[in-house]
Amino acid sequence: MAIDRNMRNIESDSEFENRIRPQELSTFAGQDKIVDNLKVFIKAALMRGDSLDHVLLHGPPGLGKTTLANIIAHEMGAQLKVTSGPVLDKPGDLAGLLTNLDAGDVLFIDEIHRLSPIVEEYLYSAMEDYKIDIVLDKGPSARSIQIELAPFTLVGATTRSGLLTSPLRARFGITCHLEYYDTPVLAGIVKRSARIIDISIDDDAAHEVALRSRGTPRIANALLRRVRDFAMVKGEGHIDLEITRIALKALNIDSRGLDQMDNKILSTIIEKFKGGPVGLNTIATAVGEEAGTIEDVYEPFLIKEGFIKRTPRGREATELAYRHLGFTPKVDEGSLF
Ligand code: ADP
Repeated sequence: MAIDRNMRNIESDSEFENRIRPQELSTFAGQDKIVDNLKVFIKAALMRGDSLDHVLLHGPPGLGKTTLANIIAHEMGAQLKVTSGPVLDKPGDLAGLLTNLDAGDVLFIDEIHRLSPIVEEYLYSAMEDYKIDIVLDKGPSARSIQIELAPFTLVGATTRSGLLTSPLRARFGITCHLEYYDTPVLAGIVKRSARIIDISIDDDAAHEVALRSRGTPRIANALLRRVRDFAMVKGEGHIDLEITRIALKALNIDSRGLDQMDNKILSTIIEKFKGGPVGLNTIATAVGEEAGTIEDVYEPFLIKEGFIKRTPRGREATELAYRHLGFTPKVDEGSLF
């Protein structure tokens, strides 16, 4: 089958994202506490005619931080401007963005823990007093002028909240920690996305996709697209459990949804450190990843699913981890006596 080179890729990642990204709090699945609180805060801000207080969203990637920023802007009837910590390397970049905001607008800064210290300092007065000082000229003729900003809402997102400085953290009035999603909630997200991209899917198939998605909507949506391809080519265009299992097997998706790094962490603890306990830094060095990333991005899911335990002496692989990787669980030495 030839590909028409003039054909636009109507399913480019960003277009797909735009179609399936929930636009209102009512279509944002799960994270009930966050959603309930945000409803109150947004309603109260609208009743007062104020901008919403600054919001910090933290949690592992793919759980809905960008989506929530979009929703907050939408529910506030405001515009959203998107940027990220590493992109804003000069105070001038930030000033340009801030001075273009209208009252109530939302500025979303992804990876806010990666802001340079000098840009971060500028942000303080912008967040607190809606003012920034801009330095004009250099050398002896340098002078600074103060610019008033429209009251705006900063939504900051981070996977590594531990790296945020305390002055920055203290300037957020609302802090939300996003948790991994349970399988039924994820299955609901898969079914909703399937409806939007116009493919039919059985409940048990949606459940299977959800189970293998590492508690993460982004992964669930990505898997759905690949399973859909299998259903179109190898099946009748409908997603049932059988075609889902065939697709997931062909894609080498782990039976419990763990990714390569998850499995590497577990096999390292088991094979190199006899199942632990072993310290976080030692694991990090052995797998070649930053300790903070393991702690904030990988470990929470492995703990939630019961693959590792945190003990005062370090991390330990559980019996489930041994079985998952095909090892025989170690005999608890204490129980031999
Ligand atoms: P993050 O910014 O935390 O990395 P995103 O907000 O980009 O994550 O979400 C990743 C994908 O998952 C998007 O396609 C989004 O539509 C979907 N998604 C995230 N959270 C939800 C949710 N609660 N309900 C439905 N879809 C969601």
